[in-house]
Formats: sequence, C-alpha cells, structure tokens
Amino acid sequence: MIEKARVLFLAFSGIRVQNKRLLELGYQSVELRHRAYTIASLPSLGLLTLAGMTPESWESKYHEFSADTMGVIQEFQPDLIAFSTLTASVESACDFVKQLHGLNITCVIGGLAASTLPMATFKDFDSIIQGDGESSWSQVLDDCLSKSLKKVYKNTKPYNFNQSPIPKWELLGQEKRARYTVQTQRGCSKACSFCGASRLLGPLRFKKDELIAKELFELKKYTKAQVVELADDNTFALGTRDALFDALEASKIRYFTEAEWSIGENPEILSRLSKSGCVQVLVGVESSVQTYSGMGNKVGHLDRIFKAIDNIQKSGVSVIACFIVGVDGETKESIENLGDIIVNSGLSDVQITLQTPFPGTRLYKNLYKQGRLLKNRSWSYYTLFDVTFEPSNMSVKELENSYYDLMKRVYSNSQSEKRKLIRKQIWKIASKLK
Ligand code: SF4
Repeated sequence: MIEKARVLFLAFSGIRVQNKRLLELGYQSVELRHRAYTIASLPSLGLLTLAGMTPESWESKYHEFSADTMGVIQEFQPDLIAFSTLTASVESACDFVKQLHGLNITCVIGGLAASTLPMATFKDFDSIIQGDGESSWSQVLDDCLSKSLKKVYKNTKPYNFNQSPIPKWELLGQEKRARYTVQTQRGCSKACSFCGASRLLGPLRFKKDELIAKELFELKKYTKAQVVELADDNTFALGTRDALFDALEASKIRYFTEAEWSIGENPEILSRLSKSGCVQVLVGVESSVQTYSGMGNKVGHLDRIFKAIDNIQKSGVSVIACFIVGVDGETKESIENLGDIIVNSGLSDVQITLQTPFPGTRLYKNLYKQGRLLKNRSWSYYTLFDVTFEPSNMSVKELENSYYDLMKRVYSNSQSEKRKLIRKQIWKIASKLK
C-alpha cells in the first residue's frame, strides 16, 4: 500500500489581550468570559474548507494551537502544515514555525493576515497563500509533492463561491463546541475605512442556496450542531434573501449572524429573521463621535439606529450592538457619554472595541502616513482591545484608562444581569412566534 502524504491544518485562534488590567477584567466578568469562550470555540472555517478540497490521497488532520501542538506534530508526522492566524496571533505562528526548522516539514500560511501583512513577516514559511485560499490550494498540494513550491500563491481572479467544497467537519472529532460556522457570502457592498471585508479578499459574492442547504445538512450530520455562526461579512448586504431563509428554516438550526442596523427598517427581513432560526445578530453602530468614510447609508443618527435595533429585538432576535472607541475627536467626556448611552439603553448585548487599524485598510494607511502608528506595539497588540495608534485628542494612557473605565462600567454584574433579562424577554417573543 502506498503511504499517504499527510497535511496538518493548524489554527491560531481565540481572543488575545495585552493590557493586563483589561485581561483581569475579562476574567472577572461572566459575560466577557462567556464571549471569549464562544469565540475561542469557533473552528477555523478556512482551514476546514481547504481540508474539504484536499484529495483522498492525502491524510488530513485539524488542530488548534495549544501547549500540546509539538506532541501532535510528532505523532502525526505531517509532510505539510497549513497555518491560519489572525493578525494578533501572527507572531505566535512565526515563533512556532521556527521550531519546526530541520524537521523536514513544509509550512505554508494563509488567511487575511497573510494577505495583508508585509511579506518579510513570513520569511520562515515556505509559502504564503494570499487572497482566496481555495483558488491556490490544489496547486500548493501538487507543488509540495513535486518539491516545487513557490514563495507566494495569489489568485488572479476571485474564487467562484459556487464551487466551494463542503468543509471537512469530520476532522473536528466528537468534542462538542459552543458554535460552528457556515459561510453564505463573502465581501461587502460598503467600504468602511476601518474594515477589510469589502476589499481585501475580493468582491461581494453569495453562495448558492442549494450549496448552503447541503453544508448545513453535512454540518449537522457530523457535529450534531445546534447553533451556527454565519461567518459572513454582511449577510443581507443587498437586502432580504428568501431562499437563504428557507434553507435555514428547513435545517431547524439556530444561528447568529452579522448585518447592518438597517435590517431593522426592512419589514421583509424582520418578518423572517427569527422564524428562520436567527437568535442573535451583530450590528455595527461604530463610533458615537464620528463616521468613517465608506459607510454609505450605514451612517445614521444614533436615535434612528437605536430605533432600528429596537425593531430587531421586538421581532424576537437579540442584537449585539458594536461600538468603536478611540476615533479622531474622541475625548474622556465622549467615552463617558457613550457609557451613559449604553447603560441607559435597552440593548440586549454590546461589544465595545478600540479602533484598530488593521493592515490593508484605509484607516491603517492614513494613520501610517500621519506617523501615528505606535512603533512599540507589534502585531500582537492588534487585538481590538489594545491601543495601537496615537489618538487625536488624548494620550495613549488616557485612552487606555477611559476605555478600561467604560468596559468596567458596561460589564458590571448588574449591567450584565440586566442584558441577560432583556435577552430572555426577546427569546420569549421568539418562542411565541413559532
Ligand atoms: S458594512 Fe460591515 S462588513 Fe461592510 S465594510 Fe462596513 S464594517 Fe465591513
């Protein structure tokens, strides 16, 4: 029997925070701990998708980086390791790959960070896969076997989403996870300057609904998943999607997704969202101080946005309202004011992050040009919870302190309890609708 070549799919995932005080706060808050656990339990859909298009002539294994990773590698003895990281974990991945030198293992890296960070960052990898990984993966496997790997693989045109393979869920084994992921679209029609979703991996694309239905079926078959997260950039970027609602409703799965607040002004979407199994939607309110370029009709008065969010919640779907702190013009007072708005609101969930200029975005380019990126803050600070640039109206320390005070106030036990009760009431509405 011919021995199969082996590929290990290695994910560096989970939330990272450098600010020690904030990290401590995260441990103390039940709500933040739960959020971190949920995010950490999300498998890397990108790697599982590549596994789904890997031929049977390869033996595949999926693993999330941990203290045990070297042991896993020694046991599995891969010929090839495919790394996937977020910007904040790039340095961990780069440190780890150095430990593999001399073991005769080919190491490649892909994902958004590999597509946007300077190439020199990845000098210890054999290859860098940029753009849609699906476009290059078969070639990478062939070139690995023939020992003719190129340093960079980059797709010349956007991947045809309708040829997407079914992610290889069976690689996850029996361990139960809080959530699994399914992607129904990629890209966005907006171009918010802080976000890379709309430009960095290609244009807005939707997966055909039969394929989504098949993916949901396979996901349930292998994982018994009860809850999925749609790993979309903006699920309803072009309005309602009746066939998607049909597929989700038929799957009887509960799901979480990301969309614009304006879905709260769209009766067609509101009439189907909860019935199709949606339990929670994440919407970007963004900054209470200024708007970003490229937001288009996402720009709205706060009262209008809160009214739209209220409509979504009244339809039986909880909303995670996302706020960005630290934009130009932000002051200690404006951050305190945001705290007042949140604690006095009827929001069922909130996410507050610091403005983070991810590489490849227009925000990054602007701050770089202005010389405002902090030189002593490496990629491991690009966590969404650490300051990485010189604020316009505050010192770095002042922004860190004001953000910490805001987080402490918003994630106090009483505020978390209040939001929990609101979520219960919303889901009671949802159960009556069914
Ligand atoms: S609407 Fe959302 S997904 Fe689209 S570009 Fe803006 S932040 Fe990114």
